[in-house]
Amino acid sequence: MERDPHQLIEGCVIACYAAGLSQCFLYIRGEMADAQERVAAALNEAYAAGYVGKNILGSKFSVDVVLHWGAGAYVVGEETALIESLEGNRGMPRLKPPFFPAAIGLYGKPTIVNNVETLSNLPWIATHGAEAYTAIGTATSPGTRMVAVSGHVKRPGVYEIINGTTTFRDLIYGDDFCQGIRGGNELKAFVPGGGSAPWFTPDQLDIPFEGPQAGAAGSMLGSGAIMVMDSTTDIPAAALTLTRFYAHESCGKCTPCREGGTWLERILRRVVDGKGTDADLQQLIEVGTSICPGDFPHASSTRLGLAAVPFPYKMTTICFVGPSAYTPVHSALTLFPEEFEARITKRTHIPVTAVGVGE
Ligand code: SF4
Repeated sequence: MERDPHQLIEGCVIACYAAGLSQCFLYIRGEMADAQERVAAALNEAYAAGYVGKNILGSKFSVDVVLHWGAGAYVVGEETALIESLEGNRGMPRLKPPFFPAAIGLYGKPTIVNNVETLSNLPWIATHGAEAYTAIGTATSPGTRMVAVSGHVKRPGVYEIINGTTTFRDLIYGDDFCQGIRGGNELKAFVPGGGSAPWFTPDQLDIPFEGPQAGAAGSMLGSGAIMVMDSTTDIPAAALTLTRFYAHESCGKCTPCREGGTWLERILRRVVDGKGTDADLQQLIEVGTSICPGDFPHASSTRLGLAAVPFPYKMTTICFVGPSAYTPVHSALTLFPEEFEARITKRTHIPVTAVGVGE
């Protein structure tokens, strides 16, 4: 949107042509001022050149593209919340069923919702053909992905990688990509696909960037936002940063997310500040599993008796924001329990079985 807005607009027009649509909306998140301004300028240019609007390039095909600036809410990345926002309501997800957009979408009409990356791929595919596109990558994950790497690497940034063959090791250590960990430090953990994805550790670096393989390893590629943590990372504080984000972004529609996310943040803050107790750790798990039920009462890999977060998530909430507040806490507690232990100042007895079920 910032560097090549015309690619996105062209993708929108191609999608509308393919589906026989005459009305398109581009919804851009409120905080993304550069993207908003550049897409707006590009849209004006496209209208002036006859690439968008009535009788495009003299044909019988017409499509209007409306640019809508959101107010800035993460949850509006969920398609039904986006539609609510577009209609002028608060950006809260709708229940599915019955509100699947393809059946009941914007203003109650059938609606196709796609993301910027998908639409921006269309001009290249229309020019070169689907076979050329699927020849890149693997059968289950063809083509390329844009990934954003942040954190403790020498060269953070946005990179285009080949799906399925590029590994996390290539991405984090490769000369063409992030060139390794800053300051000669060791890798401690990384978040492979957005803040809501369960964390990976260095022994998982050779997993390729492919959805099914990341899923089999217990996480996801999600938004393609990769966060790298080196050996200096304060793990409870890192988990707090992520959980605080999701607690802040809760739209408040369902209780487990609205109340639970805030509880997780407050309890975790207490632990990070060195004022936590064993009971706080227990409470983190109980609150978390009330949002994102685990597979009880198995898997006691730590003295806290943590069960694995099922993936894809089971959830007691309407959308994925609720479980997303717990995932960082769960990953941090499972992978680095000693860092939480070190923060605990008041020892209390913790029952190690049946965590979260009627305790
Ligand atoms: S899970 Fe959270 S963000 Fe999603 S609908 Fe419920 S309250 Fe809103």
